[in-house]
Amino acid sequence: MADENSNLSYGTGLKISLKGRIALVTGSSSGLGMEIAKYLAKAGATVAIHYHSEKQQAEQLATEINNNGGKAAVFGGDVSNRNDVLNIFRNIDDKLGLVDILVNNAGIDGKRQICGDDDSDEWEKVIGINLMGPYYCSREAVKRMKKSGHGVIINVTSVHEFLPWSGYTAYCSAKAGLSMFTKTLAQEVSESGIRVVSVAPGAIKTPINKDVWGNPDTYRDLLTKIAMPRMGETSDIAEAVTFLVSEMASYITGTTLVVDGGMLLYPAFKHGG
Ligand code: NAD
Repeated sequence: MADENSNLSYGTGLKISLKGRIALVTGSSSGLGMEIAKYLAKAGATVAIHYHSEKQQAEQLATEINNNGGKAAVFGGDVSNRNDVLNIFRNIDDKLGLVDILVNNAGIDGKRQICGDDDSDEWEKVIGINLMGPYYCSREAVKRMKKSGHGVIINVTSVHEFLPWSGYTAYCSAKAGLSMFTKTLAQEVSESGIRVVSVAPGAIKTPINKDVWGNPDTYRDLLTKIAMPRMGETSDIAEAVTFLVSEMASYITGTTLVVDGGMLLYPAFKHGG
């Protein structure tokens, strides 16, 4: 509780400034990535908008940011392809400068399939995009961040880094693997002024889960899995990421911030049992 006689001044507002920072947000042509890119730009960062197949949406976002006093440029490529990632970073070096914020957001959940009856190419595809992608991007980012002497890498995992999800062994394995990548990389780069943090969203309304929130029955069922009585919004995740890449989070590394409205609280036990 604030002491009325204290000299501290309240009410002036805490502001996050990312001025001078260059941020790459993978998969920012839609969903969470798009919102994260907008927030980082609003906080003053120059943003590299990355897309895989939605070039037009990426260009629209860059135009919106540039027309509103921010700075953004568009870069395309497949994060599961090492050469594409090399090209993305080289093009950003030339056009914007050295990346000092990387948000590894691009990801897919893949086809629902049960192990044994599954298609192993699909498994490899999910691991390629969700785990190899962040690895390829992080190693390019780390090279540059070491030169600058600072940097932050955010890995967008999922509650499924903790929570099994039948039919999605590849997704859960990739996200749990990405979580351990965060911790191990954080240890490796801690003396180079680089922080690495995971953000684990719960169920957030985006195109990835439209089949669930677009249908009243599956939407009702989803709500029984969340302690708070709502799905997450993209802004819930973008705010957490903006905080974590800022100086306000300068002592946070190698851990996961869960942003899930209480999905991991075993909501079925809410009324006892
Ligand atoms: P989305 O489908 O809107 O976004 C996924 C993005 O990844 C798209 O921009 C897509 O173009 C990009 N992408 C797909 N394949 C790619 C490839 N090969 N190379 C480069 N980019 C590629 O979904 P979203 O919900 O915004 O998901 C963003 C991240 O958040 C994903 O990693 C997802 O696993 C994670 N996540 C989402 C939720 C949720 O409820 N929405 C929950 C937990 C975790």
